[in-house]
Amino acid sequence: MREALEQLLLPAECLLCRALLSFPDSRQLVCDVCRHRWRPVRRPWCERCGQPEPHFGACRLCADWPAAFRVARSAVWLDAAARAAVHALKYGGLPRIADDLAAVMHRLVLPRREAAWLVPIPLGPARERERGYNQSERLARALGRWWRRPVVPLLVRARETATQTALTPEARLANVAGAFEVRNAECGMRNEPATLDSAFRIPNSALVLVDDVFTTGATLTEAARTLEQAGARTVLAVTFGRAVVPDFT
Ligand SMILES: [Zn+2]
Ligand SMILES: [Zn+2]
Repeated sequence: MREALEQLLLPAECLLCRALLSFPDSRQLVCDVCRHRWRPVRRPWCERCGQPEPHFGACRLCADWPAAFRVARSAVWLDAAARAAVHALKYGGLPRIADDLAAVMHRLVLPRREAAWLVPIPLGPARERERGYNQSERLARALGRWWRRPVVPLLVRARETATQTALTPEARLANVAGAFEVRNAECGMRNEPATLDSAFRIPNSALVLVDDVFTTGATLTEAARTLEQAGARTVLAVTFGRAVVPDFT
């Protein structure tokens, strides 16, 4: 419904640069020129966290990740062009732009993707009410259509967390500690007969966390830890944007 209204109300111009779109009946909100401004994250990277490899020694970003958290990848660098798209998704009230973002995310290569479940990073209920949707879930659903994989909202927020934007890496970790819970966690633990909630059983399939941006990885790490504690053995993650290499050292 909301989507249908947007389609009626929006002029056929690129959401980011306002250039007229040459395919006005398409679902695309971002023109090709703007899409080409998004800079793909490329190798060489740490095979695990996808961050550019350090000049010396092993990667430290993912050294303390929970064992089940195996691979994280991001589609593009979060520079001004990509940031505008994320901003439109989160604050512009335009969840349809998730399709444009997923159109670049779907090329990411992940192990065991063909049988994976997609798990959006949840928003707190207050923030979701305010925004009207969860941007990570919109991304996951758009990506799920590309990959033909199910989206399972396994995680919920255990509490509201402060926005991470102004926090140092250490403060980010503390801010998200204990932030998530697995919905119906007991289903994965006991050998109960299938119920209506059986969709929420922790599967043996890989679980792919989906979020809009990867900054320090704190949120994804905490979400992966929560899934691991509930019995998940393979947790992967994909995001649209990756913060331009932060200098943490
Ligand atoms: Zn444009
Ligand atoms: Zn790494």
